[in-house]
Amino acid sequence: MSPHQQAQPLDQGTMIEDSDISQNEMDGVFQMQKSAFDQERFASYQDRMDNLKKLYKLVDEHSQELADALNTDFGCRSRQETELAEIIGSLSSIRYLMKNLKRFMKPKNRSTSIWFMPAKGQVMLQPLGVIGVMAPWNYSLHLTIAPMAAGLAAGNRVMAKMSELTPCTAITLKELIEKAFSQDTLAIFDGGVEAAKQFSNLPFDHLLFTGSTSVGKIIAQAAAKNLTPVTLELSGKSPVVIGKNYNIEEAAKRIVWGKSFNAGQTCVAPDYVLLPKDKLIEFTRAARAAANQYFPSGVDNGDYSSIINSHHCQRIQSLLDDAKEQGVEVLALTDTPTTQNKIPPTLVLEPKENCRIFHEEIFGPVLPVFTYDNLDDALGQINHHRDPLALYVFSSVQDEVEYITHHVRAGNVAVNDTLLQYIQNDLPFGGVGNSGMGKYHGIEGFETFSSKQATLTQRGIGNFTSIKLLYPPYTGFSRLMMKLIRLLP
Ligand code: NAD
Repeated sequence: MSPHQQAQPLDQGTMIEDSDISQNEMDGVFQMQKSAFDQERFASYQDRMDNLKKLYKLVDEHSQELADALNTDFGCRSRQETELAEIIGSLSSIRYLMKNLKRFMKPKNRSTSIWFMPAKGQVMLQPLGVIGVMAPWNYSLHLTIAPMAAGLAAGNRVMAKMSELTPCTAITLKELIEKAFSQDTLAIFDGGVEAAKQFSNLPFDHLLFTGSTSVGKIIAQAAAKNLTPVTLELSGKSPVVIGKNYNIEEAAKRIVWGKSFNAGQTCVAPDYVLLPKDKLIEFTRAARAAANQYFPSGVDNGDYSSIINSHHCQRIQSLLDDAKEQGVEVLALTDTPTTQNKIPPTLVLEPKENCRIFHEEIFGPVLPVFTYDNLDDALGQINHHRDPLALYVFSSVQDEVEYITHHVRAGNVAVNDTLLQYIQNDLPFGGVGNSGMGKYHGIEGFETFSSKQATLTQRGIGNFTSIKLLYPPYTGFSRLMMKLIRLLP
């Protein structure tokens, strides 16, 4: 095992067959969007606002239908969690864009050197054209809507390809979008991996992909052929570090919540925990208490989500079997469920380096717990995997928080909680290195789907502008000016 090893990709198993989306259909919509954009290259504030309002209304009015579709795709998807992460998550990202649209569209002033005054420097965010969005299955709705909304807010046309593992959600959203929007503005595609490959080959003006690191590399190669810039929202093992003096019971409550939300099928879910050696038993007890507080009648009910399909369920189960075979203690925190494709929140105590769970992204409700004697050993273990998407630090000591965050390169960080950094609309979100490139959410999302057009406006007093002092013929005076400029650039 070499240092800096990358988390292994999720094995998806046999892919679902493609629907009959033809290359011609996708090309046709792309061309339609491209020519609509060419006819109006700078969408007005009002047009952008109208698009955002339409999208908001669509999600708001059809939230029940969309939640039902997600429930069908998952077998059992906690209604509360769908409401929070998919419906409210989508609505609040659209509302954020509506609230800030005017400010985001306004050109930003930049300084100019004293020698060029009174010329004015500005950056204007120019729409790019046609944006492609590719979404995974775990938050199929939100991870389609949020980037689509940012693309529309920035004045673009948008095409999105949804995951083949959530076909009901994809068809439901596609039908709703087709009723509300003209295809030359916004279009959704369902279908399988073949359709996804065709989609990624289109010459978009920007492509945002959310999914596994292994598929992200394929997408980046496809996009490179068209010189399409990409934002890649990828995966990784997100660690939790509990500091020496943090209250273990409180940490366990927040970690078990983050790990059991959507049954751990969250890109920023805590993947594993590192805690001081003498706190292991206390943490184990507190984690069990937290799980039983959240799910008092076990997880055979609608409050706890299923694993997306039997293949993924077996994948997670096989990680547990492998750990048990290596003699590692595996501790289910609630009773064993009988519902199909459910796995209870489970701890795996101090798995060894030869266990698969040590290396693979878990993407399920299973939490390896490691102990450390000294913090540097814990940080060494984190940096053994590369570039976590999220890092969680539980500590009330500011120096400790800084020490940890300065020694780990993570896409995003939450201190004293889990998951919540993702749903802050004003904070940029994205990975780093192997967990992704580029950011969205916040002004960063608007910028991702825009070209930063630098503009210098020459202004003068009458016909006089200061640069004219440097025009030829080059006299003693212009040489003196050069000396001054060199001293005061
Ligand atoms: P995935 O990479 O298998 O699939 C994502 C998308 O890529 C799907 O729409 C799929 O149709 C398409 N796809 C699959 N194979 C393809 C290929 N060969 N060519 C072109 N397109 C292809 O990911 P997934 O299983 O849907 O989602 C789970 C993964 O996504 C996890 O690794 C998770 O960490 C990651 N994820 C990341 C974020 C984030 O914001 N960083 C969010 C959610 C999920």
